[in-house]
Amino acid sequence: CGIVGVTGTNQSVSILIEGLERLEYRGYDSAGIYVNDQSGNDYLVKRVGRIVNLKNAITPEISGSTGIGHTRWATHGVPSETNAHPHFSNDERFYLVHNGVIENFKQLKEEYLSGVEFKSDTDTEVIVQLIDRFVVEYNMDTQAAFLKVLRLVSDDSSYAFVLMDRETPDTLFVAKNKSPLLVGVGDGFNLVASDAVAMLKQTHTFMEIQDQEIVVVKPAEILITDFDGNEMKRDTFQVEMDA
Ligand code: GLU
Repeated sequence: CGIVGVTGTNQSVSILIEGLERLEYRGYDSAGIYVNDQSGNDYLVKRVGRIVNLKNAITPEISGSTGIGHTRWATHGVPSETNAHPHFSNDERFYLVHNGVIENFKQLKEEYLSGVEFKSDTDTEVIVQLIDRFVVEYNMDTQAAFLKVLRLVSDDSSYAFVLMDRETPDTLFVAKNKSPLLVGVGDGFNLVASDAVAMLKQTHTFMEIQDQEIVVVKPAEILITDFDGNEMKRDTFQVEMDA
């Protein structure tokens, strides 16, 4: 299972696909990408099986400057196209990839999302629907809603999350707990992935993410805050390894 995200490049589709191929060693049963071109067009493609199946489903018009990609190792719900990530809210505003397990997803669903129709059997979809609910019904901004949901996720859960919001299509909202995820720092673009190896073709400069932080990644900005809203300073480090 693996995650790749990128913002600030018109090469997002090929970066996501190649990144996912470099994460294949982690194992997976299905794969998907979501990209947004910031001119009102966005694309979601998912396929069961090998990444080549996903690759073959990508037509020339599918492009974008910001996107997220995922390889899934099913824990909740069978391997299928609907259970594959990215998952999205029913209003198709929020798109989310997730590695890990949300242990209290059933409680969250019962407490906050009664009446909501779910498309998949995953723990992940509960998280993206819940973020949408807090934004749309409680009028929270996306980062605040994401933080609220992260606080509701039980401590024994594991996650690497990358969230996109159609209203701010150049931004990746990122958080992790017990699952690997790090930022790749580019010149005018930035990346996130489960393993630096998925980003080495684009950059050799990286930034660590710690558990219990929210990272807002834009093409020319990386903002890290802890769960109490304190801004965190983080040095970059170099990985001198060939792509
Ligand atoms: N628990 C999620 C699912 O079953 C994510 C699995 C993963 O880490 O790929 O869809």
